[in-house]
Amino acid sequence: MFWSKVFIPTLKETPKEAESLSHQLLLRAGFVRMLMAGVYTYLPLGLRVLEKIQGIIRQEMNASGASQLLLPALHPLELWQKTGRDKDIGEVMFKFVDRRGRDVVLGPTHEEIITDLVRTQISSYRQLPLVLYQIQTKFRDEIRPRFGLIRACEFIMKDAYSFDQDKEGLDKNYQLMYEAYKRIFKRCGLTVLIMEADSGIMGGKESHEFMAPAAQGEDLVLLCKKCSQAKAFDADSLLCSKCNFQMDKINTIEVGHIFKLGIKYSQALGANFSNASGELKPIIMGCYGIGVSRLVSAIIEQNNDAQGIIWPKEVAPYQILVLPLDVTNSQIMQEAIALHDQLASLGFQVLLDDRDERAGVKFKDADLLGIPIQVVIGRNSLVEQTLEIKVRLTQEKIIKPRQEAIEQIGRFITI
Ligand SMILES: [Zn+2]
Repeated sequence: MFWSKVFIPTLKETPKEAESLSHQLLLRAGFVRMLMAGVYTYLPLGLRVLEKIQGIIRQEMNASGASQLLLPALHPLELWQKTGRDKDIGEVMFKFVDRRGRDVVLGPTHEEIITDLVRTQISSYRQLPLVLYQIQTKFRDEIRPRFGLIRACEFIMKDAYSFDQDKEGLDKNYQLMYEAYKRIFKRCGLTVLIMEADSGIMGGKESHEFMAPAAQGEDLVLLCKKCSQAKAFDADSLLCSKCNFQMDKINTIEVGHIFKLGIKYSQALGANFSNASGELKPIIMGCYGIGVSRLVSAIIEQNNDAQGIIWPKEVAPYQILVLPLDVTNSQIMQEAIALHDQLASLGFQVLLDDRDERAGVKFKDADLLGIPIQVVIGRNSLVEQTLEIKVRLTQEKIIKPRQEAIEQIGRFITI
């Protein structure tokens, strides 16, 4: 793909409204733009990263036996009244009355909606267990939207729900999700702390939060360096309960949260099943969330340097950036296009910077965008039949004969 066709509006200056590093880089590198506070447009590069993350989540969810569906964003308020959450989280709900006079809510989460669906479709233990998930836009009327995609009013979440006939089934599905989450965050290039957490407004007994350490994260976590136990910040219990070691205070971003809900929602909404003895029982539920759009920011918070973003390989918008240094030189452009086509035919995602800009501008933008491999094509490449590879992460530069260089790029990207 040619840079000039993609729409990558990079900025030289850091916009004043951007409070966090990830927000600054997302704006400067042309990944997102703000429509109003807490509401963002994903530009082509931002959307590509978002889709990469969604792809990883989808693979890992499907591998765990979960099945994807898509629930509506518009909900009748009535369903929320049945669980009482119209009051519990009422202040963050976008509510309005439609032209038929119905009270309507823009979904901030979907426990009520999926439980109502299951209530009407599941009646027997033979239909259980079942795990369903969706990747969808949610709406929350945040008091103070901040830090770009980290605390937004309109954001994308993956939410999964498990339905079981007994506690053992719930434990098994919970563990499957716990392990899938670890794989998802690892593949996204994120380090996370996992801590036992309060179930809060979700209800239920057991829950774990997945917290990504980040300098400007809003959630404080205590971490024991000796045994790696993590827990929510509490000014009274700074010592580790396991080894009595002084715990470190760490700023984090919450990127995932899993809950054993039990029967809170199935009981309130009448989602029952007949067990093997013919008795009617409420379905036992779990729910499992990942802040998908927030992950984009968390990944940047952990993967950057003074020059810009350093995308982990699996979530980079493109894998290779080809940089012809003089686009007015037809031989250089011919070689750049030939290389682009060859790499693309090998299955790589390649961006070619075809802008008529000074080399310095191109190098700066290349580092700002953070594509893992840069390939520079100048006069020397033509004379010597070589390619200059730059690895964004290490800033290492390697000059090799053309074919050898292509093989090396392949190895770097696939390992
Ligand atoms: Zn400890």
